[in-house]
Amino acid sequence: MSNEKIPYKIYLEESEMPKQWYNVRADMKKKPAPMLNPATLKPVTAEELCHVFCDELVAQELDDTSPYIDIPEEIQNFYKMYRPSPLVRAYCLEKALDTPAKIYYKFEGNNTSGSHKLNSAIAQAYYAKKQGLKGVTTETGAGQWGTALSMACSYFGLDCQVYMVKVSYEQKPFRREVMRTYGANVTPSPSMDTAVGRKINAEFPNTNGSLGCAISEAVEAATSQEGYRYVLGSVLSQVLLHQSVIGLESKIAMDKYGIKPDIIIGCAGGGSNLGGLISPFMGEKLRGEADYRFIAVEPASCPSLTRGVYAYDFCDTGAVCPLQKMYTLGSSFMPSPNHAGGLRYHGMSAILSELYDQKLMEAVSVEQTAVFEAATRFARVEGILPAPESSHAIKAAIDEALKCKETGEEKTILFGLTGTGYFDMYAYEKFNDGKMTDYIPTDADIKASTDKLPKV
Ligand SMILES: *Cc1c(COP(=O)(O)O)cnc(C)c1O
Repeated sequence: MSNEKIPYKIYLEESEMPKQWYNVRADMKKKPAPMLNPATLKPVTAEELCHVFCDELVAQELDDTSPYIDIPEEIQNFYKMYRPSPLVRAYCLEKALDTPAKIYYKFEGNNTSGSHKLNSAIAQAYYAKKQGLKGVTTETGAGQWGTALSMACSYFGLDCQVYMVKVSYEQKPFRREVMRTYGANVTPSPSMDTAVGRKINAEFPNTNGSLGCAISEAVEAATSQEGYRYVLGSVLSQVLLHQSVIGLESKIAMDKYGIKPDIIIGCAGGGSNLGGLISPFMGEKLRGEADYRFIAVEPASCPSLTRGVYAYDFCDTGAVCPLQKMYTLGSSFMPSPNHAGGLRYHGMSAILSELYDQKLMEAVSVEQTAVFEAATRFARVEGILPAPESSHAIKAAIDEALKCKETGEEKTILFGLTGTGYFDMYAYEKFNDGKMTDYIPTDADIKASTDKLPKV
């Protein structure tokens, strides 16, 4: 089909929206390794996990055989308030780059929380409500997840307690206020409210906090209050499942116009948007029906796939969570306070880690100033002010499009534009003032934390 026939934005009809999530694990011959109980080193049971997570979400977490899982009607209805998200043909960016490549992006920033996180937040809040719980606890790094969860909890009338990484709490006061506006309780982490927070504060008195610390605190808060469970916005397989709505919608939209992407790119923090975007395409690759190149883009300051080790590790700093086999920098790794807060996690989704280990997916790392150059370039031609996290994918997409310019290849590139950057203007200010720096950990920094990995 010729270029002219493809609209700037491809939307789906309500009737074309996915009614089931897709679980890519079902098509993986070699499945992700099971989570282990840190005390017994045996695979965790549903019963053990049910103390921490909602029952239905535990079932989804442990299900690596059902390819499709119905999206409950209440969740489908909520999705209709802000979905389908547009699939945009980046005609203006293509022109600015003077590339023969065709670039598409799936834009998830069109809701108040400003990112894809709402896709899983609403699902997790729904199952908590269905179980009759009073509320949920969670962590938030950059604040997008906490915001999304606050919105979802207020929709279902659930209490929402958010532990927010201290550096973000201070850098992004407006995020905090959005959460409070939706009725959430927000505490900077590490706090003095939990035993694990007090311990981390004693050990690292001037810490900026990290996602790993905040997770430990939120888990403790959930397990020490009656009628509460813990929810997590990334990394877990259930989150990738919910985020598959991104990839499913993209695929339906592309199929409608006979478009087949050659390269699919996403930024990778814990892996949920990337996993969700690539899942249906990866399913085709795993079943031998089609081939695609998949690229995970991570910050050079927190390079779990490109420089981490594939091993069992704790999902949190306080070592209260189950052990997960993943590419990790070690749960004691404290990333420098860079501006892509949502990508500052020490590990990577078990599903993506396994796919990467099987060489079904590639990974690259990019430096912060180059990411903001790409973000600025994109904003000026495509109009959308991208989140710093999303801009990692923009940077890699631009690099691939420029390679096409050299070779003359007309490749089709699809990338995930996960959110908007309105709450990141402090970071943009640093960049605009020429004060942004790049930080890359040394091998010794990484070894210091990977040396402390649990012996399994
Ligand atoms: C949280 C976040 C990410 C990274 O999380 P993943 O689980 O890796 O998707 C990326 N972009 C935005 C806008 C985010 O809020």
